[in-house]
Amino acid sequence: MIKFKRQMRKIPYFKPDIEEEEINEVVDTLKSGWITTGPKTKKFEEEFSKYTNSKYSIAVNSCTAALHIALDSIGIKKGDEIITSPFTFAATGEVICYFDAKPVFVDIKEDTYNIDPKKIEAKITSKTRAIIPVHYGGQPCDMDEIMAIAKKHNLKVIEDAAHAIGAEYKGKKIGNVGDITAFSFYATKNMTTGEGGMVTTNDKEYAKKMNILRLHGISKDAWKRYSDEGSWYYEILDKGYKYNMSDIQAALGLSQLKKLGDLNKKRGKLAAIYNESFSKIPEIKLRKIKDEVGNIYHLYTIWLNTSNLKINRNEFIEELKRRSISTSVHFIPLHIHPYYKKTFNYCVGDFPIAEKIYENIISLPLYPSMTKADIEYVIDAVGEIISIDRK
Ligand SMILES: *Cc1c(COP(=O)(O)O)cnc(C)c1O
Repeated sequence: MIKFKRQMRKIPYFKPDIEEEEINEVVDTLKSGWITTGPKTKKFEEEFSKYTNSKYSIAVNSCTAALHIALDSIGIKKGDEIITSPFTFAATGEVICYFDAKPVFVDIKEDTYNIDPKKIEAKITSKTRAIIPVHYGGQPCDMDEIMAIAKKHNLKVIEDAAHAIGAEYKGKKIGNVGDITAFSFYATKNMTTGEGGMVTTNDKEYAKKMNILRLHGISKDAWKRYSDEGSWYYEILDKGYKYNMSDIQAALGLSQLKKLGDLNKKRGKLAAIYNESFSKIPEIKLRKIKDEVGNIYHLYTIWLNTSNLKINRNEFIEELKRRSISTSVHFIPLHIHPYYKKTFNYCVGDFPIAEKIYENIISLPLYPSMTKADIEYVIDAVGEIISIDRK
């Protein structure tokens, strides 16, 4: 029997890792007089390309924007079909809907929670244009299989790498595998600019198009337009969007990118402590991390075998809350949300694996500033709830 240490600790679900360096960078930007897209954004893009080993990086104000201009640059149109995972955040599905195209979901694998490549081909029709693999929790999808299917059927691959900054697939950094890759710097992601995103590609034409689309379809960057070398003249080449990143965000991004390796390592070490303890509890099943991928831990999820327990998953979350531990659930599958049911006739039961996992998982707190004692507090609490509520 595990004894619960009654001195309460408050464990929030997430705390961003912002230190003096980031604060100084932002202050420096504010003092420089250049606060929208400018030299720091350009530098951030260059550093991001170096980091991911991709030819082009285009900074935007969210991963949602990144996915949107990625789909626009490959020419998605009304009525097209795009294959993706239902086990993802709203953003992955909504960008498809922006074009009046159809998100065609494919169920996930029970071990990794990533899209199941074996089920993709059955969903390909004459309208299919692209696949959006989502690297769940920071573990890259089976990219060899996905790229082979895409090649065979002449489809583009746009990776949703919101969770996978710094992850690798067979020795290659994510950002350099599919046709285009979208990253998120949202507050809770592995590195943050508050709000922000990046899109990477090795294709010159896509890069050119996305560069124009992110700022009103205009042919020149703002920093050139307003600097001495620029002029007042510009041309609108496409309909475009207001998706540019500001130098304030880029200042944060530059310092966060420098620390990213360390931040991901810290997460890995903390996750290893969780793994070690939870692998001994029969009511908990852990997400499989494959040897051939360079996983980074964005999410730490446990899958509860509630048939052995007197309480269900939601009650388990309440029990953790009573012990001042905040948790989350990633994700409510897209196809069971009212919009997707109503618009595309999806129903409960369509993607049984995603649904089963959704009903039984909990995302536990995991972030670099957690101490070993914080992790142990969570482990003790989970263990205690299980031992009290075991049937
Ligand atoms: C967070 C997230 C996004 C969206 O990122 P934003 O930067 O907030 O637009 C997209 N996909 C997944 C899987 C996410 O978790």
